Amino acid sequence: MIEGAVTQLSVCDLRSCARWQAYFSFGLTPSPTTLRNWWSIKLSAETGKPRNSGWLASSSFRWPPHIAARVITALAQFTEGKPSPGAVANGSPGQNGSMMCRSIDELDGAVADCRACARLVAWREEAARVKRAAYRDETYWGRAVPSLGPADARLLVVGLAPAAHGGNRTGRMFTGDRSGDVLFAAMYRAGLASQPDSTRRGDGLRLFGTRITAPVHCAPPDNKPTPDERDRCRHWLITELGLLAPSLRTIVVLGGWGWQALFPALAESGWTVPRPRPKFGHGVRCSLAPALPGRAELTIFGCYHVSQQNTFTGRLTPAMLEGVLVEAKSTAGLR
Ligand code: SF4
Repeated sequence: MIEGAVTQLSVCDLRSCARWQAYFSFGLTPSPTTLRNWWSIKLSAETGKPRNSGWLASSSFRWPPHIAARVITALAQFTEGKPSPGAVANGSPGQNGSMMCRSIDELDGAVADCRACARLVAWREEAARVKRAAYRDETYWGRAVPSLGPADARLLVVGLAPAAHGGNRTGRMFTGDRSGDVLFAAMYRAGLASQPDSTRRGDGLRLFGTRITAPVHCAPPDNKPTPDERDRCRHWLITELGLLAPSLRTIVVLGGWGWQALFPALAESGWTVPRPRPKFGHGVRCSLAPALPGRAELTIFGCYHVSQQNTFTGRLTPAMLEGVLVEAKSTAGLR
C-alpha cells in the first residue's frame, strides 16, 4: 500500500521558506492532492514531486485516502493552529485556516471570513451592493455563508452553493429563497426542523440532529462554481466532516453536482469510498465504511436538488423530498 516510504517528513510552507517546520516519523508521505490542497506546495508537472525542495525525494505519493487523512489530522494537531504566513499574506485564512478550527463554532466563524476565491468574492459583494429590487432596503450578508445546524448532527444535508439573493442576502444556508422554502417545509414535515419556513437569521429556526452545508460557501454567478473554486473550498467540507465524525451517520446529497463534490472530501475525511464511485440518482443509497478510528459507517442518500427548475417542473415533488429525508432520519437513528 505504501511505497517509497520515508521515515522523516519535513513539512514547511514553501511560499514563506520554512518559517516553521514539522517533523514526523510515520514512515509516510502525503498524497499530492493533500499537499496541494492543504499546504499549497507547488508540484512539478513532470514528476509530480515538490519542485523546490529535495526533502521528499524518496516519496512515491501513492497513499490510500485514509492514510492521507491521518497525516492531515496529525499535521493539524502539530501546528496547533499556527497560521501559515503565506496564507495570511494572501488574505486567505482558508487553505490552512480550516486546520485551526477545533469546533464547529470556530469553523463557522472562519468560513465567513474566507476570501480565497477572487471571482466569488467579487460576485457576492457585487450582488450585495446592487441588490435585487425586492430587497433594496435590506443589508445583504455578502460574505461566505457558514453551514447551519448543531455540532453533534447525525444527518448532514449537502447542497451546492448559496444563492446570490438567498443565502448571500440572509447569511444562512437556503434561507430566503424558493429552494429553501421547499427544503425547510419538507424538513419540518419530516421532524428535522422547528418551523416550516426560514426567512432570516434570528427567526427562531432550529434544526434537530441535522446540519446543512455546501461544497462551495460563496454565491457563484449562474449558480455554477468552477472546478477550481469547488476544489479550493473543499478543505472547509473536509474539516466539517472531521468535526462531525463522532455523531455523523447519514448524508443527504441534493443534486449530482454536490454528489461529485462530496466523495473526494469523504475520502480525505476518513471514509472508504467504493470504486467505481456510486452514481448519483434520486433515491440512490450507498454505505461507506470508516477508514479511521472515531468514524462510523456512513449512509449516503441521493436526492434531486431543490432548485426551482426541479420543483417547478415536478421532477422533485415535496413528497419525494420528504421521503428521502424521513428515510435518512430513520437510518441516522433520529427520532
Ligand atoms: S467559495 Fe469557499 S474557498 Fe472560495 S471564498 Fe468562498 S468560502 Fe472561501
